[in-house]
Amino acid sequence: MRAPIIAGNWKMFKTVSEAKAFIEEIKGKVEIEGVECVICAPFTHLHALVDAVQGTRIKIGAQNMHCEDCGAYTGEISGVMLKDIGIDYVIVGHSERRAYFAESDDIVNKKVHAAFRNQLIPIVCVGEKLGEREAGDTKKVIKVQIEAAFQGISAEQAEQVVVAYEPIWAIGTGKASTPQDANEVIAYIRDLLKGLYGDHVAGAVRIQYGGSVKPENVAEYMRQSDIDGALVGAASLHPASYIQLVEGA
Ligand code: PEP
Repeated sequence: MRAPIIAGNWKMFKTVSEAKAFIEEIKGKVEIEGVECVICAPFTHLHALVDAVQGTRIKIGAQNMHCEDCGAYTGEISGVMLKDIGIDYVIVGHSERRAYFAESDDIVNKKVHAAFRNQLIPIVCVGEKLGEREAGDTKKVIKVQIEAAFQGISAEQAEQVVVAYEPIWAIGTGKASTPQDANEVIAYIRDLLKGLYGDHVAGAVRIQYGGSVKPENVAEYMRQSDIDGALVGAASLHPASYIQLVEGA
């Protein structure tokens, strides 16, 4: 039985005071038995949010981190630093990082290793571009990304990974993948994991769908056999909408 996980990706939005007010609004309303709630906020907000969620079941995640634990990397944040302030999750390989910050499959893999070195759970994002989908290459692209991300990751670690399948053409566009299409790709990801690690790990890994998920469509995704939650951008920014997403899960 995989616990559904609804993760909000706030990207570069909100001030610290707005973020704290958001947590006050959702406290007590998203703590639904069996559903895991994660808020992935900008680095500057993380410390304050870890304090704000004390005593609740809400978890705080980062949206990125460096693959080294320390060193001369001006402006970067490491897994050691995130763990030190009480962070539980970190998004790795979001398509915006792949597109705007040259994050390669190799770097994504290094970050997955860095997450486990620091007892952080990586939310590993994979997804195809519109042209790749139209060319019928979705599975080919996903296979390369999944195999690269899990390179050198043990079975014990692999079963803790959260994978987010996010077709790039569906992120922030309002054009969501149909629940059936998303489920088909997610079932394929589970098959790939089965090939890499066997039934037990493949059955344990939680795989989210991401891409224009909203309160109105979340339940339909959650009804699919292989979808275990959602990674949500825009609709996670408003407390009322985030609460509805969690209720829908
Ligand atoms: C995301 O940022 O990962 C995302 C899925 O964004 P949106 O929900 O806005 O499409």
